[in-house]
Amino acid sequence: MLVNMKAMLEKAMNENYAVPACNVDNEHNLRAAIQAAEETNSPLILNVTPVANPDIIYFGRIATDLIRQSKCSIALNLDHGKTFEACIAGLRAGFTNIMIDRSTLPLNENIEQVKEMVKIVHSQGCTVEAELGHVGFGQEEKNDRSVLTRVDEAIEFVERTQIDALAVAIGTAHGVYQGEPHIQFDLLHELRSALPIPLVLHGGSGTGDQNLKRCAHEGINKINLSNDLKRSAIANLICRDLSGNEVYNLYPLLAEGFKNKIEYYIKLFGCSQK
Ligand SMILES: [Zn+2]
Repeated sequence: MLVNMKAMLEKAMNENYAVPACNVDNEHNLRAAIQAAEETNSPLILNVTPVANPDIIYFGRIATDLIRQSKCSIALNLDHGKTFEACIAGLRAGFTNIMIDRSTLPLNENIEQVKEMVKIVHSQGCTVEAELGHVGFGQEEKNDRSVLTRVDEAIEFVERTQIDALAVAIGTAHGVYQGEPHIQFDLLHELRSALPIPLVLHGGSGTGDQNLKRCAHEGINKINLSNDLKRSAIANLICRDLSGNEVYNLYPLLAEGFKNKIEYYIKLFGCSQK
């Protein structure tokens, strides 16, 4: 079942759990992710980023077709739509949620650009996620408090833009970390009680199971995962003896490792059977 994120994440917000949002970029990991949702009877979000798969229109066609055949509620999210054109391409390709990333702009410009896009996306029956504060990359991590989300700005941002979910910067980063990140749980609690909409965590991979479990139960409702899933896929391949016929199982083995890790996170985040 192809759905947008609204009802899915509002339920997660009311019942204190998080839905994994898994980056997929080909038919194998797409099918593996859908299978993980089915085996755990869980809702799921599939992230596609134009960086990993620039042919959004064609991939969107495959993804929406496969998702419609599933009995689980699955949202297809265009992750980090950096340009107006990319967001519109996402809508044309059948994506049900558009993540608009204007987080590097000053607050007012961020609000104005997101607000315009919200009107367009909502008119198509789809939902919008935007980011406030800035979730950078692991390598450039500097414990810089100025990039964290501010509560007063978040309240204004949500009110003025009418977005459906907000990606917050509370100490995680994209990509690979040097050590485990320091999550600002106090800030998360403040944001949760101040805002009426579901919150999103980017850069879930490498954050550590205990941190992620706490986030899922203390105010985050969508957790983005990419790196960890790919590592699990590769680990499932390299532990095999590929000298014989098993080499023909290259893609199924990668998909199996990918699927197992998603199922692991579905259970960790309390999303199973939801
Ligand atoms: Zn992100």
